[in-house]
Amino acid sequence: MSEQPIVIDAIINGQKHKSEAHSPRENPAHPEEIVGYAPLNTKEETIQAIDAAHDAFTNWRQSPITDRVERMRKAIQKMKDATPEITTLLSKEHGKPLYDSEGEMGVSLAWMEFACDNAEEVLKNEVEKHEDGGKTIIAKDAIGVVSAITPWNYPISLSTIKIAPALLAGNTMVLKPSPLAPLAVSKVLEIIANEFPPGVLNMVHGDADVGVELTSNPKVDKIAFTGGTETAKHIMKAAADTIKHMTLELGGNDAAIILDDFNVNDEEAMRRLVISNFLTAGQICMIAKRIYVDKKIYDSFIEKYIEAANKWIRVGDPFNNDVTIGAVNNKKQVEFVQNLIDDAKGKGAEVIKLGEVLDSSIYDEGYFMQPTVVLGADYKDPIVTEEQFGPTVPILPFDDDEHAINLANDSIYGLTSSVWGEEEHAIKVAQRIQAGTTMINTAAVQGLDVRFPFGGVKQSGVGREYGKEGLLSYVETHIINSPKELDLAYIPK
Ligand code: NAD
Repeated sequence: MSEQPIVIDAIINGQKHKSEAHSPRENPAHPEEIVGYAPLNTKEETIQAIDAAHDAFTNWRQSPITDRVERMRKAIQKMKDATPEITTLLSKEHGKPLYDSEGEMGVSLAWMEFACDNAEEVLKNEVEKHEDGGKTIIAKDAIGVVSAITPWNYPISLSTIKIAPALLAGNTMVLKPSPLAPLAVSKVLEIIANEFPPGVLNMVHGDADVGVELTSNPKVDKIAFTGGTETAKHIMKAAADTIKHMTLELGGNDAAIILDDFNVNDEEAMRRLVISNFLTAGQICMIAKRIYVDKKIYDSFIEKYIEAANKWIRVGDPFNNDVTIGAVNNKKQVEFVQNLIDDAKGKGAEVIKLGEVLDSSIYDEGYFMQPTVVLGADYKDPIVTEEQFGPTVPILPFDDDEHAINLANDSIYGLTSSVWGEEEHAIKVAQRIQAGTTMINTAAVQGLDVRFPFGGVKQSGVGREYGKEGLLSYVETHIINSPKELDLAYIPK
């Protein structure tokens, strides 16, 4: 199983940059195995990368869009060719099963292709001719240097979601992946950076210290951040002095509302719901993290839900093809989730284990958690109000639709949500939920469509990624106005 650890370098101005210090990345399923080393870049190296992006911007912003699209398409092809190597590395450093890493790669490529297919049309300048012969050009100018900062749970798709539109729109970028899954995404960035002129796409590694430089340096014009809401508060403060543009994709505590007309005997729908709770061991921003069930069907729902969960959930080694849920990414996350479960249990909630453990020999040494469902918790318990980001979900009853809507909206978050039941009834309820996306009879990545904008309301984020809006979030509108009728009646001659 063990192979030689790989060593990643930063990319600054088109060159691999050897760093003095590196940090190891362990395999969460076999923590004694080091998968590779990522650099620990310094503030000075981070400034070099920002300077390179800043210098490259002057030419890159003037390059023809057809050239940008062509380069991106070449990168897409090379990513496709390298997919087996990249997804294997991702599963090793992340802990998620191979099918899950392949799914992440698939979404990344689908989005990059959508961005290439639509960039010319969406980003083109518009010209308005005035009746008096004047004209106005509505130009879509690149913003400048973008600092992209990404989390560990979907390191490749949450990087490419930023890289494709930013570069296609004529911006340059410095990207910093999370130290908790830095290796596979670095391979992807190497492939993309090689297709573009030096300085257009740079990569540095490290944690908060590098992040602080990336978010406060005056040469950075926009921040594209995906991560936790608490981190985003630091970022907003760091960026305030130079009023940077921002797209923030943050945490969520997504509600799934099960209406009284949901068919508990619909096995396919139940399987979708279980997947919506436990895919990637629950470590997805848009996973359904609290389930509210109409009290009229609560008992039968619980019975059928547990049946469906027991069928789908098979915990074990990410490289075992029968496994549906691999390891949790890191020890701290295991402890955080376990504390929430213990807290609920201590207050009298019932915790039921779901599914089976296939590779029991590695379960104790790796960062594995058998998924659980928590029954009988209070609406205000932390297991319900906090983002667990792990393989556990509370299920609670509600009295009527009004009650369910209030429970769903009673959160600082508003990323996604889902409503399950007869379609028209579900849509009516969905329209009253405060969220960036609400899915009907599906949830989480199963309802994700890269053609449409994605993002959160309330403290789940600012701005949108994906869709045409995802491309437009990397340009400034620049009005070039050439009017002919200049006299304004109210200004004295
Ligand atoms: P995190 O906020 O701890 O880290 C995210 C990134 O920010 C990492 O690269 C980290 O090194 C960097 N960072 C940390 N401190 C920083 C600082 N002071 N300044 C600048 N950068 C800093 O998040 P995480 O634990 O890696 O990811 C999990 C969180 O991400 C969850 O809350 C999840 O919901 C959220 N998330 C949101 C989305 C979305 O699209 N809304 C998608 C995936 C994950």
